[in-house]
Amino acid sequence: MSHRITLIPGDGTGPEIVAATCRAIEATGVEIEWDRREIGLPAIARYGTPFPPEAIESIRTNKVGLKGPLTTELGKGFRSVNVALRREFDLYANLRPAKTYPGVRAPMGNVDLVVVRENIEDLYAGIEFDLGTPELATVRAVIEQAGNTKIREDAAISIKTISEMGSRRIVKFAFEYARANGRKKVTAVHKANVMKFTDGLFLRVAGEVARDYPDIEFEDRIVDNMCMQLVQKPELYDVLVLPNLYGDIVSDLVAGLVGGLGVAPGANIGANGVAVFEAIHGSAPKYAGQNKVNPMALMLAGTLMLRHIGERAAGDRLERAIAAVVAVGKDVTYDLKPNRDDPTAVGTREFADAVITQLAAVHA
Ligand code: NAD
Repeated sequence: MSHRITLIPGDGTGPEIVAATCRAIEATGVEIEWDRREIGLPAIARYGTPFPPEAIESIRTNKVGLKGPLTTELGKGFRSVNVALRREFDLYANLRPAKTYPGVRAPMGNVDLVVVRENIEDLYAGIEFDLGTPELATVRAVIEQAGNTKIREDAAISIKTISEMGSRRIVKFAFEYARANGRKKVTAVHKANVMKFTDGLFLRVAGEVARDYPDIEFEDRIVDNMCMQLVQKPELYDVLVLPNLYGDIVSDLVAGLVGGLGVAPGANIGANGVAVFEAIHGSAPKYAGQNKVNPMALMLAGTLMLRHIGERAAGDRLERAIAAVVAVGKDVTYDLKPNRDDPTAVGTREFADAVITQLAAVHA
């Protein structure tokens, strides 16, 4: 069966890493019909909007997207396309696996973690009140009265919201992911000792959801302690589930543990089955068109995508092929060489060629 997938090339170095990734995915033998759509800067140039309705409809229909990085500075009047995508499809789960691959310089030994970050709520809901606005004065007055407290007049205010529904679905997502991927433990990360109502709610709901998954161990950690433990003994952890803000910070910490954003894949998954796979890094515009940057993070996102569409064996094979190329360390891009000026570093296309050759060898 052929899979129809929306392909968003992105901008900057996006089109190059997307082309390399598509070739590697196709080399697994899985039949894919790419439905190519522009979003972001290229879409503004062509359609006058960063978010053309045809692209949205394509994602809605195909339900799966592979996306190159998008430059977020779009100019006046346009909001971030990444945020717009998240909102449009209620992409509430941000999935960020982080694994050490031999050959990638990483400060820690053997790390194999999955961070599941809630993507919609928390301090990131955008409920903010700026200094000098009448809204700030209104909100401050209400809070002072309801909370029987005093807020300084020179303070701006951001509101943190965490709901039962939002917490339940993200924790359920983490457990379902753990079960489907042979993971043993889910750790809920919070600061419920201080934020008793919002993080307290998240922790309570996490405990309730955990009771439906007796086959998977459950525990919780306070976020500051979690950060220290991740740096000292990351091997103790498996799947982490976090509200939005802690998830944002901890997922980058964890990416750092395994070698940085250049090798970190991600996925944004929504309530209605829509899933968009991408690299964590940005569009690296200074290298655009130079056949220079590393496509590994997007290729790893491709392995997540293959598993998501039911092509688990192909996803596993692609991951093994990428790992083999990186472990040898010969046909790799500049960022994976011990010395970044190493003249033997290959380009984006040649890295893909090496992965494809490796796939064929594994296949033979
Ligand atoms: P960036 O990740 O694009 O690049 C920072 C630096 O990291 C680059 O100059 C390069 O040295 C290195 N780098 C990044 N990706 C690499 C790769 N694949 N291989 C080798 N080296 C790589 O970060 P930035 O410069 O802060 O962001 C550029 C644009 O991308 C901004 O507009 C930003 O908002 C956007 N962005 C988009 C996404 C997304 O679409 N998901 C994510 C992050 C940033």
